[in-house]
Amino acid sequence: MKVDYLIIGQGICGTFLSYYLKQQDKTVLVIDELQPFSSTKVASGVINPVTGRRVVTTWMIETLLPFAWESYSSIGKELNETIIEQKNTISFAPSYQMKETYEKRMSEKDSYINSAGDNQQYKTFFNYLFGCYSIEPTYLINLHPLLKGWRKKLFDSDGLLEESFDISMLGVHEDHVTYKNITAQKVIFCNGISTFEYTYWQNLPYVYNKGQALIADIPGLPQTNIYKYGALSAVPWYDGLWWVGSSYENEFETTEPTAVFREGMIKELNSILNIPFTIIDQVASLRPATLERRPFVGLHPQHNSIGIFNGMGTKGCSLAPYFAKQFADHLTHNQPLDALADIKRFNRILMEK
Ligand SMILES: Cc1cc2nc3c(=O)[nH]c(=O)nc-3n(C[C@H](O)[C@H](O)[C@H](O)COP(=O)(O)OP(=O)(O)OC[C@H]3O[C@@H](n4cnc5c(N)ncnc54)[C@H](O)[C@@H]3O)c2cc1C
Repeated sequence: MKVDYLIIGQGICGTFLSYYLKQQDKTVLVIDELQPFSSTKVASGVINPVTGRRVVTTWMIETLLPFAWESYSSIGKELNETIIEQKNTISFAPSYQMKETYEKRMSEKDSYINSAGDNQQYKTFFNYLFGCYSIEPTYLINLHPLLKGWRKKLFDSDGLLEESFDISMLGVHEDHVTYKNITAQKVIFCNGISTFEYTYWQNLPYVYNKGQALIADIPGLPQTNIYKYGALSAVPWYDGLWWVGSSYENEFETTEPTAVFREGMIKELNSILNIPFTIIDQVASLRPATLERRPFVGLHPQHNSIGIFNGMGTKGCSLAPYFAKQFADHLTHNQPLDALADIKRFNRILMEK
C-alpha cells in the first residue's frame, strides 16, 4: 500500500493533521490503537481566552479563536455533528483580590471579561461572596463525537489502521518510510506522550503533565454555561453530566486516578455548591506538554521523512486545528511554520545522539 503520509495517533493532533492533508488531496493512513484514556478523550474541551490569577489573555488567542470556530464548524458540517458551541464561562471570584483583578481587567479593552449580569442569579447553585464575571466567548468542543466521527470517515476511506504502532518495524529512508507493507513519503508522529519514547524525539524538552477530573451528576445546574471557581471548573459533559476538574501534576507516582484528588474535589464541591451532587466516575490522563509551553511542529533535521505534531499541553483544542493547517501547508506547499512552534528551534539538540 502506498500513501503520501503515515500518521501515528488519532487524538486531536492526528485528527486535524489528517483532515487538512486530505483537504489538500493527499492520501493518509492513520495508525491508532484505541486507548480509552488518551489526553483528548479525558479533556473537558474548553477554549478559554484568558488564564491564570491575573486573568491575562492566552498566547495568540486573537488568531486562534476565529480559526477554531471556523475549523470545528467545518469538520462538524462534514461529520453532521455539532462539534463547537459557545458556552461562556461564569467565573466566581474566590477572594476580594481576585474580584479587584476581574474589575480591573473588565475595564480594559479586549480582556474578554464582562459583567455576568445579575450578580445574585447563581446563588441558588453556588456559594460565593465576591461576585462573578462572564468570560466571553468561551468555546466548548465536543471531542468525543469529533474523534468518533472522523475515525469512521478515515475507516470508510481505507485511511485507518486500528492497531498499536511498533517503531521497530519502521524503515526510514531519505525520501520515504516503510512500515510493514506500507510505503509513505513521510511519517508524522501525533501519538501524544508515547512519541517521546522514540530515540528520534527523546531529546526534546517535553513534560508529562497529569490531569484528573471527576464526572458528576449535578441535577438542576443549567448546562448553558461553564462554571469556574478558583482552580475548579465544572464543564457540561455528555448525557447531562458534568466534568469537574482538574489537576496539573508534574510529579506523580501513578498515572491512575487517585483517592487524594477525588477526596479534595468532593470537599471543594461540598463547600462551593448549594445543591446536591453525585460522583459517577473519575478519569486521568497525561497531557503531552513542553517546557516552554509551545508546540512541537515540523520535520526532523536529520531525517526529512519523519515529522512531529505534538506538545499541545493544556491547550490542544485551540492550538491543534491552527497548527495542523499550518503544518499541512508547510508539508505540501513549503509554507513557513511559526518560529515559536517550529521544531527547528531544537535542531541542535535533535542532532545530538
Ligand atoms: C484532564 C485534562 C483536561 C484537559 N482539558 C483541556 C481543555 O479543556 N482544553 C484544551 O484545549 N486542552 C485540554 N487538555 C489538553 C488536551 O487534552 C491535549 O492538549 C490534547 O488532547 C493532546 O492531543 P494529542 O493528539 O497530542 O494526544 P492524545 O490525545 O493523547 O492522542 C494520541 C493518540 O495516539 C494514540 N497512540 C498512542 N500511542 C500509540 C501507538 N503506539 N500506536 C497507535 N496509537 C497510539 C492514542 O490512542 C491516542 O489516540 C486536557 C488534558 C487533560 C489530561
